[in-house]
Amino acid sequence: MSLIVQKYGGTSVKDLDRIKAVAERIKRTRDAGHQVCVVVSARGGVTNRLIADAKSLHPNPDKREMDLLLSVGEQETIALTAIALQSLGVAAVSRTGAQAGIHTDLFHTKARIVDIDGGDIKEQLDAGRVVIVAGFQGVNSAGQITTLGRGGSDLSAIALAGALKADVCQIYTDVDGVYTADPRIVPNARKLDEVAYDEMLELASLGSKVMQSRSVEFASKFNVVFEVRSSFNDNPGTLVKAETTLEDVVVRGVAADRNQTKVVVSDLPDEPGVAARVFQALAQAHVNVDMIVQNVGRDGVANLTFTVGNDDASSAEEAVATVLKEVGAGAVRAAENVAKISVVGIGMRSHSGVASKMFDALADSGVNIQMISTSEIKISVIVDLEKAEHATRVVHTAFGLDRDD
Ligand code: ADP
Ligand code: ASP
Ligand code: MG
Repeated sequence: MSLIVQKYGGTSVKDLDRIKAVAERIKRTRDAGHQVCVVVSARGGVTNRLIADAKSLHPNPDKREMDLLLSVGEQETIALTAIALQSLGVAAVSRTGAQAGIHTDLFHTKARIVDIDGGDIKEQLDAGRVVIVAGFQGVNSAGQITTLGRGGSDLSAIALAGALKADVCQIYTDVDGVYTADPRIVPNARKLDEVAYDEMLELASLGSKVMQSRSVEFASKFNVVFEVRSSFNDNPGTLVKAETTLEDVVVRGVAADRNQTKVVVSDLPDEPGVAARVFQALAQAHVNVDMIVQNVGRDGVANLTFTVGNDDASSAEEAVATVLKEVGAGAVRAAENVAKISVVGIGMRSHSGVASKMFDALADSGVNIQMISTSEIKISVIVDLEKAEHATRVVHTAFGLDRDD
């Protein structure tokens, strides 16, 4: 008998028919003799709707209230899934994040898990029940409900699998696994049989929504092997694991992030300490800065350009404007019409020529590169938002990732 953790995302539990289908899959797993702990997301669209409702009442809603509001989505699904299982004659109980002992820090809307004690999950499983846990939510030391950032049910599942020492962790979603690129952008993307934690982490942080990046970070740290697969069929999915036994390819996949803003700070005094002040202000405003370019100063002034996620754009502009006022010079301008396209692969550590191949492919198809950044296993470029999908497909083809048929 194995202990299996299964996570079902929003599309997989979107309506009652889908919840029934999920209940049947869980029953099949239980009938095969396994203990099953399930993590579910809110029904597809619910979290977005709740956010929109709150924002229609207040442009910047209180974060503690947001957590209370958003956690409702997952709570609806756990109870409905437990009821669906009971209707199939399967003993099942639901647990909120707090009841499952998912303890987090105090940071509302993007809380980090500090400890999981599992509550009574083990006892329930041993008593023959399926346990359905609300994803995306936890509880802080002040007894307040917190949430784990968008896509956070992936993290709940992986962290629970680690804490319960599960034998198998399955992430059920609406595609057959992790592909060489988002199959909705690149129709001839290939499903990967396996991908290394480091690659999955880069792909996720660079815009591949299929896994929340923090969840992959957690899996890598605690060596939780997991499989991404479809809740709509029985096809084998993609195993995400340590890299040791993986086939060595140069580029494993291409990621596109269309939620990027380019912030241009112009006419800054070209003197020591100015850039430091700008980035200190951004850090204090909890803005996550990604690529940074500073041009060579001329006539005593310099320009600084950096990218942030769209969510952080107005905080970034505000923070920079405050510094510019103090310095008494410069101007700031944010442009949301950019996207980041990245190629990722652990093989880049030992192969050269990846950058030139990527830049050539983009140049040949008329895509202008605005900014570039690289790390050991990835190369990212900023391009016009309008060109993002085209650029993704061009780069995908250039690295020979297209499916053969
Ligand atoms: P869930 O609701 O199950 O958590 P998500 O919508 O968060 O599902 O993630 C699944 C989606 O991720 C897919 O529908 C797909 O469009 C997108 N996606 C982006 N990049 C990739 C990729 N490289 N491989 C597979 N899916 C991807
Ligand atoms: N419901 C949350 C979201 O939409 C968490 C999740 O689905 O993983 O972000
Ligand atoms: Mg998701």
